[in-house]
Amino acid sequence: MGHGPGYVEADEDMSNPLGLKAKLGLDVFKHDKEPHITIKAGMAGDQRLKKAIIVCPAGLYSENAQGEVELTIDGCLECGTCLLACGSEVLGWQYPNGGAGVQFRFG
Ligand code: SF4
Repeated sequence: MGHGPGYVEADEDMSNPLGLKAKLGLDVFKHDKEPHITIKAGMAGDQRLKKAIIVCPAGLYSENAQGEVELTIDGCLECGTCLLACGSEVLGWQYPNGGAGVQFRFG
Protein backbone atom coordinates (compact mmCIF):
# COMPACT_ATOMS: atom_id res chain seq x y z
CA MET A 1 0.00 0.00 0.00
CA GLY A 2 2.85 2.35 -0.71
CA HIS A 3 2.70 5.44 -2.72
CA GLY A 4 4.96 7.10 -5.20
CA PRO A 5 5.74 6.10 -8.73
CA GLY A 6 8.57 3.77 -9.63
CA TYR A 7 10.80 6.43 -11.07
CA VAL A 8 11.07 8.06 -7.66
CA GLU A 9 12.16 4.80 -6.07
CA ALA A 10 14.80 4.35 -8.75
CA ASP A 11 16.28 7.62 -7.56
CA GLU A 12 17.29 5.94 -4.31
CA ASP A 13 20.26 4.43 -6.05
CA MET A 14 21.69 7.82 -6.78
CA SER A 15 24.09 9.10 -4.16
CA ASN A 16 22.96 12.59 -4.92
CA PRO A 17 21.68 14.73 -2.05
CA LEU A 18 19.67 16.95 -4.38
CA GLY A 19 18.00 13.88 -5.83
CA LEU A 20 16.96 12.81 -2.38
CA LYS A 21 15.79 16.30 -1.57
CA ALA A 22 13.69 16.39 -4.70
CA LYS A 23 12.30 12.98 -3.88
CA LEU A 24 11.22 14.07 -0.43
CA GLY A 25 9.74 17.20 -1.91
CA LEU A 26 7.72 15.17 -4.38
CA ASP A 27 5.85 13.61 -1.49
CA VAL A 28 4.56 16.89 -0.18
CA PHE A 29 4.40 19.33 -3.06
CA LYS A 30 0.77 18.73 -3.86
CA HIS A 31 -0.42 20.43 -0.72
CA ASP A 32 2.63 22.27 0.41
CA LYS A 33 5.47 23.59 -1.67
CA GLU A 34 5.64 24.12 -5.36
CA PRO A 35 8.93 23.24 -7.03
CA HIS A 36 10.33 25.73 -9.45
CA ILE A 37 12.60 24.33 -12.11
CA THR A 38 15.28 26.31 -13.88
CA ILE A 39 17.98 25.57 -16.39
CA LYS A 40 21.21 26.33 -14.60
CA ALA A 41 23.32 29.21 -15.86
CA GLY A 42 25.45 28.31 -18.85
CA MET A 43 23.83 24.89 -19.24
CA ALA A 44 21.29 25.66 -21.98
CA GLY A 45 23.55 24.11 -24.60
CA ASP A 46 24.34 20.99 -22.57
CA GLN A 47 23.47 17.74 -24.35
CA ARG A 48 21.93 16.29 -21.21
CA LEU A 49 19.14 18.85 -21.42
CA LYS A 50 18.00 17.47 -24.78
CA LYS A 51 16.48 14.54 -22.92
CA ALA A 52 14.00 16.90 -21.29
CA ILE A 53 12.58 17.79 -24.70
CA ILE A 54 11.64 14.14 -25.10
CA VAL A 55 10.57 13.18 -21.59
CA CYS A 56 8.64 16.22 -20.36
CA PRO A 57 4.99 15.15 -20.50
CA ALA A 58 3.87 18.76 -20.76
CA GLY A 59 6.22 19.54 -23.65
CA LEU A 60 7.72 22.55 -21.92
CA TYR A 61 11.24 22.15 -23.26
CA SER A 62 12.23 23.15 -26.76
CA GLU A 63 15.39 23.77 -28.74
CA ASN A 64 16.01 27.23 -30.14
CA ALA A 65 17.83 28.25 -33.31
CA GLN A 66 21.13 28.33 -31.42
CA GLY A 67 20.72 24.70 -30.39
CA GLU A 68 20.09 25.68 -26.80
CA VAL A 69 17.28 24.22 -24.73
CA GLU A 70 14.60 26.58 -23.43
CA LEU A 71 12.09 25.92 -20.69
CA THR A 72 8.64 27.45 -20.45
CA ILE A 73 7.61 26.77 -16.88
CA ASP A 74 3.92 27.61 -17.37
CA GLY A 75 1.99 24.36 -17.35
CA CYS A 76 4.59 22.41 -15.42
CA LEU A 77 3.10 19.30 -13.82
CA GLU A 78 5.84 19.21 -11.18
CA CYS A 79 6.42 15.58 -11.98
CA GLY A 80 10.22 15.82 -11.63
CA THR A 81 10.85 13.75 -14.75
CA CYS A 82 13.11 16.37 -16.31
CA LEU A 83 15.28 16.57 -13.20
CA LEU A 84 15.65 12.81 -13.04
CA ALA A 85 16.36 12.51 -16.75
CA CYS A 86 18.84 15.36 -17.07
CA GLY A 87 20.37 15.56 -13.60
CA SER A 88 20.87 18.29 -11.06
CA GLU A 89 24.02 19.55 -12.77
CA VAL A 90 21.97 21.11 -15.54
CA LEU A 91 18.64 21.70 -13.83
CA GLY A 92 17.89 23.48 -10.58
CA TRP A 93 14.85 22.63 -8.47
CA GLN A 94 13.95 25.27 -5.93
CA TYR A 95 11.15 25.85 -3.52
CA PRO A 96 9.86 29.39 -3.23
CA ASN A 97 9.64 30.48 0.40
CA GLY A 98 6.40 31.27 2.13
CA GLY A 99 4.20 30.54 -0.83
CA ALA A 100 5.90 33.19 -2.92
CA GLY A 101 6.79 32.52 -6.51
CA VAL A 102 4.97 31.15 -9.47
CA GLN A 103 1.40 30.02 -9.05
CA PHE A 104 0.89 27.00 -11.25
CA ARG A 105 -2.45 26.31 -12.79
CA PHE A 106 -3.72 23.06 -14.14
CA GLY A 107 -6.26 22.41 -16.77
S1 SF4 B 1 8.63 18.71 -13.77
FE1 SF4 B 1 7.62 17.42 -15.33
S2 SF4 B 1 6.16 18.80 -16.38
FE2 SF4 B 1 7.57 20.11 -15.22
S3 SF4 B 1 9.14 20.69 -16.71
FE3 SF4 B 1 9.89 18.83 -15.63
S4 SF4 B 1 9.22 17.09 -16.88
FE4 SF4 B 1 8.06 18.90 -17.54
